[in-house]
Amino acid sequence: MKTARDYIDSLRERKIKVYIKGELIDSDKVIDHPFIKGHVNAASMTYSMANSPKYEDLMTVKSHLTGKKINRFTHIHQSTEDLLNKVKMLRTISQQTGTCYQRCVGFDAMNTTYSVTYDMDQKLGTDYHERFKKFLLYVQENDLMVAGAMTDPKGDRSLRPSQQADPDMFVHVVEKNDKGIVIRGAKAHMTGMVNSHEMLIMPTMGMKEDDADYAVCCALPVDAPGVLHIFGRQTNDDRKMEGDIDQGNAKFGIVGGESLTILNDVFVPWERVFMCGEYQFSGLLVERFACYHRQNYGGCKGGVSDVVIGAAALMADFSGYGKAGHIKEKLNEMIHLTETLYACSLACSCQGTATASGAYFVDPLLANVGKHNVTKLIYDIDRLAQDIGGGIIATMPSESDLKHPEIGQYVDKYLRGVASVPTEDRMRIGRLIENMTGGTALVESMHGAGSPQAQKVMYSKLANLEQKKEFAAHLAGVHLNKNEVK
Ligand SMILES: Cc1cc2nc3c(=O)[nH]c(=O)nc-3n(C[C@H](O)[C@H](O)[C@H](O)COP(=O)(O)OP(=O)(O)OC[C@H]3O[C@@H](n4cnc5c(N)ncnc54)[C@H](O)[C@@H]3O)c2cc1C
Repeated sequence: MKTARDYIDSLRERKIKVYIKGELIDSDKVIDHPFIKGHVNAASMTYSMANSPKYEDLMTVKSHLTGKKINRFTHIHQSTEDLLNKVKMLRTISQQTGTCYQRCVGFDAMNTTYSVTYDMDQKLGTDYHERFKKFLLYVQENDLMVAGAMTDPKGDRSLRPSQQADPDMFVHVVEKNDKGIVIRGAKAHMTGMVNSHEMLIMPTMGMKEDDADYAVCCALPVDAPGVLHIFGRQTNDDRKMEGDIDQGNAKFGIVGGESLTILNDVFVPWERVFMCGEYQFSGLLVERFACYHRQNYGGCKGGVSDVVIGAAALMADFSGYGKAGHIKEKLNEMIHLTETLYACSLACSCQGTATASGAYFVDPLLANVGKHNVTKLIYDIDRLAQDIGGGIIATMPSESDLKHPEIGQYVDKYLRGVASVPTEDRMRIGRLIENMTGGTALVESMHGAGSPQAQKVMYSKLANLEQKKEFAAHLAGVHLNKNEVK
């Protein structure tokens, strides 16, 4: 297993092409850029905690391929206990980082590709599963960070990939030869991509026969020839060029450091291709990935919310209203919402089942319910934190003002709450609340792992409405004739 230091050193060896605000960054300096450094620190926690005896049980596991101890983020779930431990691990890391540490997307992509390639081989006689196992072994043996690359730019959402005015709106195969394939397109919102080693490309939706060129799943290094990354902006990101107080969470940042990843005719050798034209399986792959990824949110957002609750409680204490009844009530409500999110993630893990490949899969309906709750309850939790935090969260002077030789005294005097608590501490907690409940963090809860409607679509597929009608009809003494209602 890699240490955090090994991870960081290995990132420096890449020849990655990253643009930030229109500027191409030297590849060996990418991870030191103020916009990226925090995300590297957060991802490093998945390495450092795995090497700590305190977290070893949660963060490491025995590989089912080699029997060796590996980082859980490279593991294929072998039981419901593995699924549960994944959720517990995510909550534990989030409590330490207060933000996304990015490595779950590739983790979910690998578990998905493992079972879907098995199913494909069984049905079609292909050899994708064995190819994928070799890639997985490489990831496990080198403890690599893999970005999960599903979302395409998608252009006109009312049109299928092959109907788009620009054929590159979805990643597609433009050439096949005896050595491999060439792909073109882009992947959007790529969490942790610029500080990963590899990316696992997956189709973004179920495909039809006309879209067969778009049914492609493959792995490639993030610095493969033809790949470039355009780093996304975040709320208040220019503060990362300043001191640390105004950033709120200066060490780890906000969300996962997303990029728009361009694939300009990128060659991928056959041994790294795990789907190429088998459009019938793209829908299954998307659904499995979505469910694994939606399982996570009560874990990671549970841990992030633990920090938000703590910050709100501290702000109340530092401001002198910590003992007020309505504050306690609001904190209790935040706890209730947080544990509701966590409960869904645990529940879908407990109810997991084995796929034909042997890899364990979550209960899909419960996983979707959990993520759907996140699209609403995080807003409630953050609303309560902002209520408790006060208007100062939106109007606070800067760190430079606090440290200014002339006006610093006024900031120190007038931003103080309880006399015994230093003003700087109250400002730091206020900034943390601002950071964690602001725009970028909220949008991730809404759209990460799929927009709310994507979960609702799964309800109608999975919840067996007809059976519910039969329950009602039976109790009411109604004889259902399904042909009666047109
Ligand atoms: C912070 C963050 C991190 C992310 N990380 C990753 C990552 O690491 N890997 C990855 O693969 N993806 C990632 N995503 C992408 C995420 O999965 C998508 O944002 C999500 O699936 C929604 O897609 P979209 O952003 O293109 O929104 P859109 O598809 O544009 O959706 C916007 C709205 O339009 C609606 N809509 C869309 N299409 C239709 C239609 N045909 N008919 C009717 N309504 C429609 C949606 O329901 C939604 O309400 C991330 C997103 C965020 C915000």
